[in-house]
Amino acid sequence: MTAAARGSPTERYRRERPPVSRECGEELTRITDDIDDPIVKLRYLQKALNEDGDKSALVQLVPIPPARRAWYRLKGLRALDAVADADEEIAERTLAARKTARRVVVGASAAAMLFVPVLVAIVAWQVNRWRSEPEQVASVGSSTEANATAIEATTAPLSVPTTLTTPAPVEENTPVNQPPVAESLADDDVGIVPSMLWLADRGPDWELYSNGLRIETAYTVKGTPRDYRVHARDGKLLPTKLDRPIGILFHTSESDLWPLEPGYEKELRKGSEALLRFVKREQAYNYMIDRFGRVYRIVDDDSRANHAGHGVWARGDEVYLDLNSAFLGVSFESRWEGGRTLPITRAQLIAGRNLTHYLRQRFAIAPEMCVTHGLASVSPKRGLIGYHLDWARGFPFKAFGLPDLYAQPLPSVALFGFTYDSEFLRTMGERWPGLIAAEQQLAGEARQRAISLDDLRHERQAEYRRWRAELPTPAGDEPGLANRNR
Ligand SMILES: [Zn+2]
Repeated sequence: MTAAARGSPTERYRRERPPVSRECGEELTRITDDIDDPIVKLRYLQKALNEDGDKSALVQLVPIPPARRAWYRLKGLRALDAVADADEEIAERTLAARKTARRVVVGASAAAMLFVPVLVAIVAWQVNRWRSEPEQVASVGSSTEANATAIEATTAPLSVPTTLTTPAPVEENTPVNQPPVAESLADDDVGIVPSMLWLADRGPDWELYSNGLRIETAYTVKGTPRDYRVHARDGKLLPTKLDRPIGILFHTSESDLWPLEPGYEKELRKGSEALLRFVKREQAYNYMIDRFGRVYRIVDDDSRANHAGHGVWARGDEVYLDLNSAFLGVSFESRWEGGRTLPITRAQLIAGRNLTHYLRQRFAIAPEMCVTHGLASVSPKRGLIGYHLDWARGFPFKAFGLPDLYAQPLPSVALFGFTYDSEFLRTMGERWPGLIAAEQQLAGEARQRAISLDDLRHERQAEYRRWRAELPTPAGDEPGLANRNR
């Protein structure tokens, strides 16, 4: 993108927006404390911040902190309801958050009402000031954004940058069915690659490995130790308790993306730092790879990260249902949008490949256990695949030296009869080969047993629920029900 295109309507990443105040950020954070799924939480924050817009500038004029906070909470609660209304599953997941927020609002609004006269007086005084200084507004431009900017300008000292990310609105009409977007790399035929990987050097907050992988450890935290069991395909829960990761689940961070250009250094750095703090607080992933290819270890390898939600994967005779425990979560700073993953950088690709080699060697991870979230994620309540869709297409398996798992029959469909709805097809545009293969397997089995496909699906989904119920549910595993330790 050229410098001239910066900030133009075709800007594909995100627009400039004034920072939200610290108080607004704190209130939104408080409301989201009861939402356990980090991605649901991020979606909620997007909604709340996008709706907030110019109105929050007005509320910053209120001189009394409790009244400001009550207002922010009311706004935040409204956004929470809007997100929940759009999705039955999210409604369930955010129930605890909404109950808590509502309770506090009832108390706080009584107090806030006392300050309404003050708010009205101040707004009236401020409007009078704008009227007397028309040239200031005119110089900024037109539309409501101009008003917001003018208000922002008059209240600059009150505006404190927040630690929250302020993601861009989802672009409408992004074409689907674009080819995979990650760049592929030339084969590994240039330079020497050591056959074994070892720790070559380390400092107080970094580790360097012999393949060039550098892991930043300044954000590393310990979480709940991995402790899980695996089912055999016949439904038997295998007795062995496991405490080491057996696979890798690839994600996108669903966060802001700034153009990779000189002039955006500050935004790029601040965006990544805010994301890292969010991921650390939520213990959302084991590893994050920023857009310059820096690899951060967040939740340490021996602990489960809260990255997978409900999911299914299988290999050989083994079926995995507790993916948070069984898989390491590796997230690329990027976003799933309009039916595809936005391009990752070559630096991310190289770093991701080196990290994958390192993790595979360290934990003896089989290649077909390096999976994407979009392939494994399910919504058990609705019996649907693709609850999270990150990397549901376009992951560069080949460049990572991994088998193409888009071609392998999808375990959630073949084993448990999960299906998809029209919304899924509209987003994806088409089914990938492994999904088609899994559906054919299921249909073949229904024919063989002379039962309807629907009956077979019901039977299998009931089986999934039975298997899932047999697993111990560690704290924080059921999103929306419990607060994790931070
Ligand atoms: Zn994900």
